[in-house]
Amino acid sequence: MSTPVPPPRGSTVRGALEAALADAPEHGLTAKDLSALVGISEKDVAGHLEHLEKSLKAQGLRLEVLPASCIGCGFTFKDRRRLTRPGACPECRSPRIDPPAFRVTS
Ligand SMILES: [Zn+2]
Repeated sequence: MSTPVPPPRGSTVRGALEAALADAPEHGLTAKDLSALVGISEKDVAGHLEHLEKSLKAQGLRLEVLPASCIGCGFTFKDRRRLTRPGACPECRSPRIDPPAFRVTS
């Protein structure tokens, strides 16, 4: 594949995601927040973010992932590289997971 040319900001789903994330609060935006802001389904957010991460890198920016954590025991999924929400806690097996949040930083 040839090098993709990033589309103009704001004109695509990814541009809209980038704009939302650049404006994100300190605690970031979750996939659910982003799906509502951009108008895509929550399950499609992670795929777009993976691509967006690459185009951000090319601009010298970074997609910061604020890790998911377990509501039950406080376990933090800090080593997790996937952008989706974990299914259950490996420590206490609780399915009550506070999902990862994202923002763009330089
Ligand atoms: Zn737990």
